[in-house]
Amino acid sequence: MIKSYTKIIVKNNVRIYISDYQKVAQEILTIHKYTPLASLILANGIATFGPVGFLYDIKKVSFLMKTNGAIKTFLLEFQNNNIRALLGDGSVITEYDENGMFNDIPLILGIGDEGLLRVSRFVESFPYTSEVPIANGDMITDLVYYLNKSDQVFSAVINDIQLNKKNHLKVDKAKSIIFQLMPNHNEADILWIEKLIENNDFKNLDLIEYINLIDGEELKHQEVISKCNCTSKKMLDAIKLLSPKEHNNLFLKNENIEIKCDFCKKTVSMNIKDYN
Ligand SMILES: [Zn+2]
Repeated sequence: MIKSYTKIIVKNNVRIYISDYQKVAQEILTIHKYTPLASLILANGIATFGPVGFLYDIKKVSFLMKTNGAIKTFLLEFQNNNIRALLGDGSVITEYDENGMFNDIPLILGIGDEGLLRVSRFVESFPYTSEVPIANGDMITDLVYYLNKSDQVFSAVINDIQLNKKNHLKVDKAKSIIFQLMPNHNEADILWIEKLIENNDFKNLDLIEYINLIDGEELKHQEVISKCNCTSKKMLDAIKLLSPKEHNNLFLKNENIEIKCDFCKKTVSMNIKDYN
C-alpha cells in the first residue's frame, strides 16, 4: 500500500487538493476495530477532513463533529502531517453489516442530522475556533458548508471511500479532492470544475488518471501518516487535572492505575508510590 499523500495542484484560478489516504485510514480502523458503519464513517472522516489542514498551511488543526447520531462524536487531529482520529461510539450496528453491503449505507444513519462541526486552527498553540451546524450528516456536504460559510471560499469536494466487502477493517479506497476558487477567479473556472466533476466518474478513475485530466501545475506533494502524539508524560499530566476529591478516590481504590490513550490505545500504568 502506498504512503498516504495530498498533492496541491493549481489550474488557472483553482486550487486543488487531491488525496489518497487509504493507508492512514486502514491503520486507524485497525486500531479501533469499530463496526462496519462506524468504520465507514471514520474512514470517510479521515479522507475528507484529513487533507483540510493543508488549506490553511498551519501545523495543527482539529475537527470535531458533535451529533445526535449513534457515533455521538467524530474527532480528527492533524498535526505536522500526522493524523489521529476516533468516534465517540463505534458500536452502531445495521442490517447490512453481514453481507458486505455496508459501503452503501448512508452515513447520516450513524452521524445523525443535527449537531455541529467545530474547526480549531492552532497558531502558536492558541486555537482559533469556528463552528457551523451539521449541514447534511454525510461529511462531504458538512465540509463544503463549513468552507463556504466560515472561510467564505467557494469550494467543492468529492470523495470515494470503499471498505473491503469481506473485511470491513480493510480499506480498499479512501480518496478525496477539494477544489477551491482563488480570489481572482472567473466564470470559466467555475464551469471548469463543474464540467470536470460532471464528465468524469471519480469512483472509476484512479487518482493518477484524474491528476492527468486536471493537467495543472503541481505545487506540493505532502506525505501524511497515522501517528498519535500522546506521551506517557502527557497522560500522567492528565491525572493532575483531576479535582483533589477525584484524585483521592482514585488512589484510595487502586494501588495501580492504568491510563489509556483513546486515539492509539497505548496504556501507561503507574503505582501510587511512583506518583508525585
Ligand atoms: Zn495516543
